[in-house]
Amino acid sequence: MRQLQPLLPGKVIGRVDVLDPRITAPVTPTAFSRSLKGKQIEAVTRRGKYLRLELAGGEVLVIHLRMTGVLSFEAAGKHAARPHLRLVIEFAGGGALLFQDQRRFGTATLLDPVRAQTYFSRLGPEPLERSFNAARLRELLTGRRRPVKSLLLDQHVVAGIGNIYADEALYRAGIRPTREAGDISAGEAARLSAAIKSTLRDAIALQGSSIDTYRDSRGRRGRFQETFRVHRRAGEPCPGCAGEIVKIKLGGRGTYYCPRCQK
Ligand SMILES: [Zn+2]
Repeated sequence: MRQLQPLLPGKVIGRVDVLDPRITAPVTPTAFSRSLKGKQIEAVTRRGKYLRLELAGGEVLVIHLRMTGVLSFEAAGKHAARPHLRLVIEFAGGGALLFQDQRRFGTATLLDPVRAQTYFSRLGPEPLERSFNAARLRELLTGRRRPVKSLLLDQHVVAGIGNIYADEALYRAGIRPTREAGDISAGEAARLSAAIKSTLRDAIALQGSSIDTYRDSRGRRGRFQETFRVHRRAGEPCPGCAGEIVKIKLGGRGTYYCPRCQK
């Protein structure tokens, strides 16, 4: 979002090529292309893991990268050779937005102004907003029996936290991922809300995590994976205590933590 914000507002959409109908389903490629042509992008925003291209007139083009999606901006418009290219949005004044997606779970959805108002209403709060603090987090966890990590990943509870960032935030907060959410104390909630914010901010500053396919909008790898303290480090020494980091499955997700540092 931050890289596309200075590039897209003001641009008028020209030709739209849907190279994989799964991206826009159930809307057909033809209907999708036709409904976007001639529309002007007013703003690039984000809610949770959804990128929003807000169009003049109130429609919103919502893009979700899912597992392996990569969005890039190509000023020259030369893109024929890109692997796993699924969607190309060309702009009237030149340039193109390219959506590559190896595993094809990504989506592009055009919402009308009414649906755009309600589409995101079920998402939890944004963790980087000021109003998300220790008290708010404790409120979200209170009375919940599920493991704290599972709640952090639940987009209806908190929006935008993925598997990597949940592992890293819980390590920074010294909280074991399997802890029952309702048992988190006020002090722990304060540490956890601060850890979530610092983890996300650090990851954004390093352009995200490129474990395999992820690239930023300029085609460059992120570098946050170089700073992982527990995620994908099973068997390696904990940076805090030199003990061994372990891996478990929690809610179907690979979960990494230090048994000594995380209580
Ligand atoms: Zn440790």
